[in-house]
Amino acid sequence: MAKKTTRGGISIELEHIFPIIKKWLYSEKEIFIREIVSNACDAITKLRRLISLGQAKDINLENARINVILDTKLSTITVTDTGIGMTKEELEKYICQIALSGALDFIQKYEGSESDSQNNGIIGHFGLGFYSSFMVSDKVEIITKSYTGSKCVKWTCTDDGDYEIEEDYVDKDNLIGDFGTAVIMHINDEGKEFMSSYKLKDILHKYCAFMPEEIYFIDVEEDSKKASEDDKKDENEPKKSEPINDTHPLWLKNPSDCTEEEYKDFYRKVFNDWKDPLFHIHIKADYPLNFKGILYFPRIGSEFDRLEGQVKLYYNQVFVADNIKEVIPEYLLLLKGVLDCPELPLNVSRSYLQNSGYVSKISAHITKKVADKLNSMFSQDRSNYESIWKDLKAFVEYGCMRDNKFYERVKDIILLEQTDGTFKTIKEYLDSAKETNDKKIYYTTDPEAQSKYIQMYKDAGINIAVLDKIIDTQFINVIEQENNDIHFARIDAEVADVLKADGEVNEITAVADLFKKVVNDKLKVTFDRLKDATVPAILNVSEETRRMNDMMKMYKMDGLPTEENLIVNLSSPLVDKMNGLLESEPEKAETLARQIYMLASIAQRPLTAEELVKYLEDNYKILEML
Ligand code: ADP
Repeated sequence: MAKKTTRGGISIELEHIFPIIKKWLYSEKEIFIREIVSNACDAITKLRRLISLGQAKDINLENARINVILDTKLSTITVTDTGIGMTKEELEKYICQIALSGALDFIQKYEGSESDSQNNGIIGHFGLGFYSSFMVSDKVEIITKSYTGSKCVKWTCTDDGDYEIEEDYVDKDNLIGDFGTAVIMHINDEGKEFMSSYKLKDILHKYCAFMPEEIYFIDVEEDSKKASEDDKKDENEPKKSEPINDTHPLWLKNPSDCTEEEYKDFYRKVFNDWKDPLFHIHIKADYPLNFKGILYFPRIGSEFDRLEGQVKLYYNQVFVADNIKEVIPEYLLLLKGVLDCPELPLNVSRSYLQNSGYVSKISAHITKKVADKLNSMFSQDRSNYESIWKDLKAFVEYGCMRDNKFYERVKDIILLEQTDGTFKTIKEYLDSAKETNDKKIYYTTDPEAQSKYIQMYKDAGINIAVLDKIIDTQFINVIEQENNDIHFARIDAEVADVLKADGEVNEITAVADLFKKVVNDKLKVTFDRLKDATVPAILNVSEETRRMNDMMKMYKMDGLPTEENLIVNLSSPLVDKMNGLLESEPEKAETLARQIYMLASIAQRPLTAEELVKYLEDNYKILEML
């Protein structure tokens, strides 16, 4: 009997689809693998469902599998499945009509948004479907046989849009068994890079690592090489191959059934991080949100480690993309983890996602879970919480800055590290400061450089918080905005009342003038009386200007000139001495004034090059006098 062949061509309005597919998503070409393999997975899942409904009798899916076959000699990538298959009518309907018009719809919607897709945005990560195979192929063949026992059909389509359907096809290479589908992609120049075992495995690992059906990778050439080697060795036993994917990823399990070791293993495997995470949060949100995931807090090795997380987004176990800002709140991207969101409307635009109620509910849910976990760690094991605070701090602070709801949830468990290495919550700090510095938090940005101030404050019984990271300046702004009555002041911003001694304070104009003369005209000189009489003067800088400068440094902008205020300590005998020398030995008085200013500066900041030279010269002179 003569074979029946149907020829067809795509209709005029669809004519342009192939060139568009080809040039489009240039940077995302590799997604064709995901689209074809996930279709294969779906085909098996559909058949499983039919079996469970009793609509596909006598079918055994115990050995269900997907093969991804690389043949570099033929320049083909073939994906086979033992799924539901298609009859000729279904093939025409699903592939020639539905898939094609779906692809056209998709392209029409997103034409012109190429730049977005190249920015690793969500567009282009999903939706193009079967026809994405033409991004890398000049010819695609489908060999398929429906589970219903219909005849095998072959569809061949070239990239100019002509297709041919061959009924009663004889599957001589035995690509499919009793039922299932094989998609043979004849890779063109555009897809050359995928003709490498290493590259293809890498992409399969990226997109298909957790797909729900077993996927096997076969490199025809490597296999034939191995086979001939095995022949030489006369080994009869063929080696058992392993699927490249994990069909039951940990996030699907019930948290109560997972062990600590399993969580750690999963983390190491997915993120290639040899450092164990600090802890994890396993989220299983039911109806109506219906999403699952595991988030890990990575251990930050040193200050120099980049604070960069990785949250992988999946759609029914199919990888979509990393770090999608439209779905995951930005500060949560500092974490590492996997989220599987089967309800995500992924074939809609970015702006839709950004404004989608579903997405904001996901964000809110995750935020709550993260805050709950931190709160429970704080209340259940405070010392452990303190021991990992340094790793949590940047995340918590950043989260508070970005999301007011998060701040509200964690505000009572924000810790301030003290200069003695202990930790206090904000409330604990303020409670301990009622007598000495009510509603004011004194802090240092550099415990070593500011050690003299620290000692003075400590002697006066004041606790000092260490806020030495760049982000801290912005973070304390947030706390002040949220709590009008709380103020932060760096220890060199003002003289705390408790540091002051009783006694009269009078301005000595001649002394002030002398300092201005030896430093510069603009220096602000004031007088006070400090308890510590050994310190002749201290330098204060305005908190506001300094914070502003810190911020500007962060953005690599030039700062404002620092306003220094020299506070002369009237309790100091050195100041008296200088005053006495003013008339009799003005030169000595000047050296003394310069030294006092330099010493006050050293306690506050590094000297400038010019200052340092002068300071050393003065010192040599003083030593000669001894
Ligand atoms: P989608 O998978 O989003 O529906 P596709 O363009 O990828 O869109 O595929 C269109 C349709 O073609 C599928 O819905 C399915 O009915 C059919 N199809 C594709 N691949 C296979 C396959 N391997 N086995 C059976 N049917 C398939």
